[in-house]
Amino acid sequence: MLTLHAAPLVLPMTSAPIADGAIVVDNDRVIAVGTRADLVAAHPEARVRDWPGILTPGLVNSHAHTQYYDFADLATSGLPFPEWLHQMVERRATFTDAMWQESTRRGLHAYLKTGTTAVADIVTEPVVLSAIARSGIRGVAYIEAVFADDASWAAGKRAELVGAVDGAGGPTRGVSPHTPFTISTGVYEDCVTIAHERGKRLHPHIAETTQESEYVLTGTGPFADNAKQFGLDFSDILDRGTGMTPVEWADARGALGDDCHIAHGIHVSESDRALLRERGTAVALCVRSNRILEAGEPPVAAYLEEGSPIGVGTDSAASSPSLDLLDEARALRAVARAQGYAADDLDRRIVEAATLGGAVALGLTEGPDRVGRLEPGVRADFAVFSVEQSGVEESGVEESGVEKGHGDPYRRLIDHGTCVATVLGGTIVHRTV
Ligand SMILES: [Zn+2]
Repeated sequence: MLTLHAAPLVLPMTSAPIADGAIVVDNDRVIAVGTRADLVAAHPEARVRDWPGILTPGLVNSHAHTQYYDFADLATSGLPFPEWLHQMVERRATFTDAMWQESTRRGLHAYLKTGTTAVADIVTEPVVLSAIARSGIRGVAYIEAVFADDASWAAGKRAELVGAVDGAGGPTRGVSPHTPFTISTGVYEDCVTIAHERGKRLHPHIAETTQESEYVLTGTGPFADNAKQFGLDFSDILDRGTGMTPVEWADARGALGDDCHIAHGIHVSESDRALLRERGTAVALCVRSNRILEAGEPPVAAYLEEGSPIGVGTDSAASSPSLDLLDEARALRAVARAQGYAADDLDRRIVEAATLGGAVALGLTEGPDRVGRLEPGVRADFAVFSVEQSGVEESGVEESGVEKGHGDPYRRLIDHGTCVATVLGGTIVHRTV
């Protein structure tokens, strides 16, 4: 049974926008992309479904912690990062397996309601893997190593992580060595080895705060105090430092490469960014979380101008107002503009970061599992956004000549997009129209 999904505008992302476009879906696969008229003629037997607005590939969230969905009150706590992290540790200790699963289930639902179908998901409690598997959401579940020194790693934490990484069934696994200040250098390097030996992807948090930079450079500051307070033996960095930036440090651990993408990348120098590009390491940008945690602002304009691979991430509900990736894209665009990015390709590049950029970050750019695009052979993961104009044009930028009349479709999506349907593997999993 073929279904032809049509919309006034289709954004395939790997080819130009199609007015009065459509895709043809056979079971769980897209088999054709084109104009509605051409595809109706080519597939007269297909059942036709006409959607309003803009049809896009499912959005790809490049950095999230779905399991913390029920920690949303922490996002309004007003605490800066080091104190916020303390609160997280205390709250986590009160959660049971059932609470983790329920929180994750609600978070996954929040993605599907807002058009996201693939996620780079940091998993700290492997018990949530079954909830992720049941949802059918795509992406990579990165099993996280956090709050571990060499002793606790050897005493059981390593075996726990390896067990979760090697577990059968469920989502594709990766490895997330959390940060230079929450695991020892030895644990970090072992995580890299564990991932490389298995052909798994890596996804650490890097260069999120000035306190992190201080800790890696000189071994001092609030994160040095935290490590001592948590009783972690980080003696090779504590009170000595490494003289490096966090990016240089992660590279010296062998972590950076095209099988790795980092979260945040805020406090990065020009040479840090050049190193990331040289390694083929993408950066997941999470500007709303950064603002809430007073972490700073990533150099979005510089990343765009320099051609760095970027994705869009919401981070967790504990530090983000929503898991809606289009909300995040809107905020990211505003930051790029405020930083002086003036080229008229900004809207397209932001939507690319939320689709194709996410695919690069997750290593899902080839084969039958590739995401973030609509082309024959891909899984039928897509979203439909209504774009009814809600009054004043929010972008404040004149429409470019080519797009005049219809308006830049990418800009319309960011300015006015509201998800009205989400389809996962050919099955409608959310709809409001
Ligand atoms: Zn994070």
